[in-house]
Amino acid sequence: MLDLVIENGVVVTAAGASPADVGIKDGRIVQLGGDMGDAERIIDAQGNYVIPGGVDVHTHLDAPGNGHSSADDFLSGTIAAACGGTTTIVDFCQQARGQSLHEALDVWHAKARDKAVIDYGFHIIVVDFTPGVEAELIELPDEGVSSFKLFLAYKGAQMVDDRTVVRTLHQARRSGALVMVHAENGDAADFLVEQNLAAGNTAPIYHALSRPPLVEAEATNRAIVLAELAGAPIYIVHLTTRGSLDAVIAGRLRGVDVSAETCTHYLYSTQDDLGRENFEGAKWVFTPPARTVDDQALLWDALAFGTLQAVSSDHGSWSFGEHRQRGRNNFAEIPNGAVGIEERMMMVYQAVNQGRFSVSRFVDLVSTTPARLFGLYPQKGSIAVGSDADLVIWDPEAKTTITQSMLHHGGDYSLYEGQKVRGLPTTVVSRGEVIVEDRVFVGMAGRGRFIKRKRFDRGRL
Ligand code: MN
Ligand code: MN
Repeated sequence: MLDLVIENGVVVTAAGASPADVGIKDGRIVQLGGDMGDAERIIDAQGNYVIPGGVDVHTHLDAPGNGHSSADDFLSGTIAAACGGTTTIVDFCQQARGQSLHEALDVWHAKARDKAVIDYGFHIIVVDFTPGVEAELIELPDEGVSSFKLFLAYKGAQMVDDRTVVRTLHQARRSGALVMVHAENGDAADFLVEQNLAAGNTAPIYHALSRPPLVEAEATNRAIVLAELAGAPIYIVHLTTRGSLDAVIAGRLRGVDVSAETCTHYLYSTQDDLGRENFEGAKWVFTPPARTVDDQALLWDALAFGTLQAVSSDHGSWSFGEHRQRGRNNFAEIPNGAVGIEERMMMVYQAVNQGRFSVSRFVDLVSTTPARLFGLYPQKGSIAVGSDADLVIWDPEAKTTITQSMLHHGGDYSLYEGQKVRGLPTTVVSRGEVIVEDRVFVGMAGRGRFIKRKRFDRGRL
């Protein structure tokens, strides 16, 4: 007897959409279509899509920052993710100076264990590139950590030099890992921040004005050229602007294996948001900064045409009422980050309503391709016999107006407050277990599992 059958829905994958019942046993999909026989539980998905659970490969839960922890730990953060239709995250584990990568991973395992309500993996952020760390990079993919993150920005903190970038890319090529890069020129941004502060320009808008598009485009191009020199694949996180897209396309034309994501907030906000009155602009202090409506249109097209591969949340939650107030008199002291782990899928889905791309492309961008690139597919990101039963019943007609009070994260605002959306996740299943029912979280803390991810392998993408 099956554990669960989801019947009468339209199953949507990255490859297409067709009506099919889904049979689930022991946490996995065991049957698609045909006579399901008896089941412990049947859910009627009439009039709904059944899509693979979302895969968000860019989150910062329980993140450190100037002696504070972010507003979301792995409990509130993953509950919010689940309620938004995301069933897998890959979070950033950050090495502290003097720490081995294994020690850093131990810290992140402890943060997630007993809290996460959905499955999770870790990328490792390399900050302190010692000979020991260089050796560890070869071992980590064996332990299911098959992506390394580097910052070209945040001088004096996470920023690494080009020598570290090229050596990390070299090790990643040897070990089968994918290097992810935060591409902004940290020296240039630092110079512009100093100039603005010296001129008395302390308001949040100067965060954006200190990190103009060229700061990002230069670093994006440099990262891609270094990947080309090392013969390694590369993934550009949170791409926001034309100059960076130009570098991605030019790299591909030279044969570089470059993938890139954007994030939800770049599709919906602009630099003007940082100028909002009463210090409200501080809510929009994330890096790279919001750009223009022309950039938004360009990013939507890049998602539709396949130039960009994924949309992530970059969820790094710093509250307005407390954390962000530290930068009232100095924009550079506002902790950077965007909120949106719960809103990501519903906000990207609005493009389907607008005819920008198909519901299959939506699934591809928020689930399937991120799963493929980061070694989770076909366990995650897929509706196929043998895949984990991570499924979302998505009601294309359900409507709501986004407000902070409907969300589940630990922060105190939404970047999408007041936005009307159509198309929402109603029921969410993780490894066969219903964890969200009629938009109410019904799962258990700590039920999420660490997923050992496979190596990057273009040959099986
Ligand atoms: Mn970043
Ligand atoms: Mn980030």
